[in-house]
Amino acid sequence: MAKRIVVAIDGPAGAGKSTVARRLAGRLGFLYIDSGAMYRAVGLWALRAGIDLADAHRLSQLAAGAAIQLESGSSRVLLNGEDVTEAIRTPEVSQAASRVSTFAGVRQAMVAGQRRMAEQSSVVMEGRDIGSVVFPEAEIKIFLDADPAVRAERRLLENAGKGEPMDRAAVSREMRQRDERDRTRAEAPLVQAPDAVYLDSTSMTIDEVVEAILRLVRERTANGEGIAT
Ligand code: C5P
Repeated sequence: MAKRIVVAIDGPAGAGKSTVARRLAGRLGFLYIDSGAMYRAVGLWALRAGIDLADAHRLSQLAAGAAIQLESGSSRVLLNGEDVTEAIRTPEVSQAASRVSTFAGVRQAMVAGQRRMAEQSSVVMEGRDIGSVVFPEAEIKIFLDADPAVRAERRLLENAGKGEPMDRAAVSREMRQRDERDRTRAEAPLVQAPDAVYLDSTSMTIDEVVEAILRLVRERTANGEGIAT
């Protein structure tokens, strides 16, 4: 029987995880899953509902009741049936996602959903705790990093490309705050799993990163034979 594979990509904000993971999934024919979009959807809902972002109990209830769909082809994100693809990308929602994701109840609901998604097909999943908590048995684990200044620069370019120029100092500050919270929280902090491969993308192109991971996937899976897509 064909085997399902998990490629887990973790790392700080702006390291290039989304772009790399999406391309990699396309090359391998695997499902691409942006786990951060799920925490963002919960953060957005909490902001809209006016829930105190320190209220662990209500946030956990909210997360358990959230119907979050990640559409693989279009990369659209649906929250309770509404398209929130754009709405979850604001700096306010980035911060809200980082705050709601500190709570165990919220994480449990998201992790359950992430594991369900990987039951259907091989996946490339990116986030903060994919190799350390969600799939400790993942066949391939990558910790994707880059210099903070380069990560901020990439985020600035991304936003400029979308016609939403942002202030450099504000972007750096926002990323630093979020990374600090993600790395120091008690529940599933951002850490490199002991068996993850560390990749510093500071002076690598997207293609170089994708090719490096593809080589690893091929090595570890005997050239991709017998893998379910
Ligand atoms: O990946 P992205 O920057 O969209 O994630 C938004 C926030 O969601 C992160 O800053 C982090 O706090 C949280 N997150 C998480 N665990 C994941 C993915 C994202 O805690 N697996």
